[in-house]
Amino acid sequence: MFEDDGYALETLAVRAGQVRSAEGEHSEALYFTSSYVFPSAAEAAARFSGESSGNVYSRYTNPTVRMFEERIAALEGGEAAVATASGMAAILSICMALLKSGDHVICSRSVFGTTTALFGRYMEKFGVRVSYVDLTDMDAWKQAVDGVTKLLFMETPSNPLCEVADIRTLAEIAHSVGALLVVDNCFCTPALQRPLSLDADIVVHSATKFLDGQGRALGGVAVGRKDVMNELVVFLRTAGPSMSPFNAWVFLKGLETLKLRMQAHCTNALDLAWWLDEQMTVEKVNYTGLPKHPQHRLAREQQDAFGAVLSFTVRGGREQAWKVIDNCKILSCTANLGDAKSTIVHPATTTHSRLSDDDKARAGISENLIRISVGLENVEDLKRDLMRGLSQL
Ligand SMILES: *Cc1c(COP(=O)(O)O)cnc(C)c1O
Repeated sequence: MFEDDGYALETLAVRAGQVRSAEGEHSEALYFTSSYVFPSAAEAAARFSGESSGNVYSRYTNPTVRMFEERIAALEGGEAAVATASGMAAILSICMALLKSGDHVICSRSVFGTTTALFGRYMEKFGVRVSYVDLTDMDAWKQAVDGVTKLLFMETPSNPLCEVADIRTLAEIAHSVGALLVVDNCFCTPALQRPLSLDADIVVHSATKFLDGQGRALGGVAVGRKDVMNELVVFLRTAGPSMSPFNAWVFLKGLETLKLRMQAHCTNALDLAWWLDEQMTVEKVNYTGLPKHPQHRLAREQQDAFGAVLSFTVRGGREQAWKVIDNCKILSCTANLGDAKSTIVHPATTTHSRLSDDDKARAGISENLIRISVGLENVEDLKRDLMRGLSQL
C-alpha cells in the first residue's frame, strides 16, 4: 500500500492508491470478478452485517475500482472518492444522495447540456426546485440562495465559451446558507485546478474525458468529504450505476500520464488560439489563455494553465462554420472532447441543438461558432487542417 507523504501531483498520479496482491504485480491488477468468496459462513454473515469490511459484490466494492478512487481522491486532495459508470451517473448520484423533495438547487446556465436536462426533467419532477443563473454573475448567485438551497452546481471554464467563475466566492455564497458547492472539474482536471483547495465541497468528473484522455471508456467520479461520499456509496449500492473494473483499470493507466498530457494539450491550445486570433476569416476566439479574455486574470489565479478546449466564430454563418469542419482531414467531427485526437464540432446543431433559439442566443451559441478540443497532434498540422476551410470563407 502506497503511503502519501505529501508527494506532488505527478507522483500521486502514478503511485497513489495501488495495492499489490500476493503476486507482486508491478502494474495495477485488474480484478474482473462480479462477486467474492467468503472464507466461512461466519465471515459471510459479518460482511453482510457490516461488521467486517471485506468485499461482497462488485456493485458494492471492487479492488481495481477502489485503486482508481484512492488515486483520484489523492489528486483532488479529497478525503474520499466514489466512482460511477459515467459522468452523468456521478451527477445523478450526488442528486439522489443529497436532495429530497422541497429542496432547492442553483445551477449555472452554462453546464453540460445533459446536466441541465437531469435537473430540469428529473429532479424537478421529484419536487426539487432548480434556479438557473449566469455562471459569472456573482450577484445572481447571491440573490438566488434561500433557506432550502442545498446545492450550487457549476463548471469552470464553461463549455463552449470558456467563461470562468470564482470558485472561492461561490463556495462562500453556498456556505452562507449551509449549502454545498459542486464543481464539475472535467475541463481542467486536478492537473490544472483543484476546487476542493478553493473551498468547494464536491468535485465531479466525467472520467470519459481527460482522465482517460484517449477516448476509450465511460466513467465518472465524485470526490469530497468522507461522510458526504458515504451517502453516495449507499445510493450506488442500492441503484447500481457502479464503475466497471475494466474501465477503472483504463482510468488508472490514463491518470499516470495526466500531467504530461494536460501540459501538452494546453501548449497546443494556447498556440492554436493565438493563431486563430490572427486569421482574417475568424471573428472572435474564446480561450482563457488570451490576455483579452474577460476572465484571463481569474483563470491565471485559479488554474495552473488554460485548458484544451476553445471556441471561435467565423465570418459568416452555419454554412461557413460547416465548411471549416467539413474540410478538416485530421480534426475529427465528433461531440466528444478530452482525447489525444483533436475534435471539432458545431455546437448550435449538435451539443446545444436542444436549446430554444432564445436560450441559444442567451448562451452565445451562434450559428458561426465552432468548438475545438485540442489534442496531442503537432499543432502546425492542426493549423494546416483548419486553414483548408478558413481560406475558403
Ligand atoms: C461529458 C461530460 C459530462 C457527462 O459525462 P459522461 O461520462 O458522458 O456521462 C459531464 N460534464 C461535463 C463537463 C462533460 O463534458
